[in-house]
Amino acid sequence: MTALAAILLSAAAMTAIVGVRYLLTSGAFALATRATRPGLYVGLDKQIAREIRWSLASAAIYGVPAGIVAWGWRQHGWTQIYEDVGAYPLWYLPVSVFLYLFAHDTWFYWTHRWMHRPKPFKAAHAVHHASRPPTAWAAMAFHPIEALTGAVVIPLLVFAIPIHVAALGLVLAIMTLMGVTNHMGWEVFPKFMVEGPLGRWLITASHHQRHHERYGCNYGLYFRFWDRVCGTDDGLGNFDAAARRARAAGAAGRRLAGRDAQG
Ligand SMILES: [Zn+2]
Ligand SMILES: [Zn+2]
Repeated sequence: MTALAAILLSAAAMTAIVGVRYLLTSGAFALATRATRPGLYVGLDKQIAREIRWSLASAAIYGVPAGIVAWGWRQHGWTQIYEDVGAYPLWYLPVSVFLYLFAHDTWFYWTHRWMHRPKPFKAAHAVHHASRPPTAWAAMAFHPIEALTGAVVIPLLVFAIPIHVAALGLVLAIMTLMGVTNHMGWEVFPKFMVEGPLGRWLITASHHQRHHERYGCNYGLYFRFWDRVCGTDDGLGNFDAAARRARAAGAAGRRLAGRDAQG
């Protein structure tokens, strides 16, 4: 097989992996939502179809750079990914996971803040915010420009920061899980964690929900560090209040529609 064919195959395989991983994870949490909060996604079928389309397009954009780097790693020993767990001290395993998450969070915070400027918002980020309220399917609902800014992060980091292949798997699992749970419309983590000392630094659904509600705040991905340092942290959202408002808006809309039908 020529190198080009091998690269294309690797990119296609990665696209399939990212796409299937998205469908399984978002699907599982959408089912959990239906089981525990029946009715939360009622009336959102069109929006969900849109979220799935954008997310699957994003899967290809994530798959191509990942596929190229995976090919280079296997064929030419590119990257600092290691397989011998003894190659670095054991304490480095959790440290490497933290370094990846922190680097990704830093990149995300600043690109996300930039995308809230009027021009980039209109050109790219509006797609993500068109989900009101977002659902578990919105995890990768990004315009291609935004997807590209997210897709290059891990493929670049593996050249800079050594990481064991299993630790990298954990980073990707956390990335996938948080992308889904942060958008699904309810808090999956226990209250003591979200509202306790840990929650002061970690981002969960309650924090990102406020971003989707108020826009100009809570830009972070995993940690509240940059939001706190830069004064953009606006605390935690309240799902009960948001659900009440959504219901009230729905009822008002129905009343208006009824009046129009009569008038
Ligand atoms: Zn979001
Ligand atoms: Zn945003």
